[in-house]
Amino acid sequence: MKPKLVDKFLSDSLIDAIAGVSIYETYQKLIDNGWNVYVVSQRRGYCHMLFKIITIPAWVTKHEDQGYWLYYVAHEFAHALGDIGDNHNQRFMERFMKLCPVSLQHYETEYKPRNAANAGISKVQQGSHKIQPLLDVMDILGF
Ligand SMILES: [Zn+2]
Repeated sequence: MKPKLVDKFLSDSLIDAIAGVSIYETYQKLIDNGWNVYVVSQRRGYCHMLFKIITIPAWVTKHEDQGYWLYYVAHEFAHALGDIGDNHNQRFMERFMKLCPVSLQHYETEYKPRNAANAGISKVQQGSHKIQPLLDVMDILGF
């Protein structure tokens, strides 16, 4: 089972990028449990619990914040580690906050303002990050 409109280049780039960040251990655990992560040319991403598929929309990789992709991946991983049905509830937010660097958590308040606020996530960015962009010049040139 593979989603439609997979962008192979961006999917490979995402997996390379995950290898360099704190979420890598969780990624490895998910892969060991049969999960697959794809970048797709679709507007929205999703986490399919039965098929064990996570999709990340391609636009995420081109966001002006070079770390944004990591926020998005942390959000989807927080779904994958949970149970079917605990979508964006308190348990979800607890998992998300463990996975996502603090400096990226404020993005959750744009997506799920009430749930995020209830979990104590601030609308204002906390601290800063220097996260490797998913695509750098070397990737694009093919080195
Ligand atoms: Zn979600």
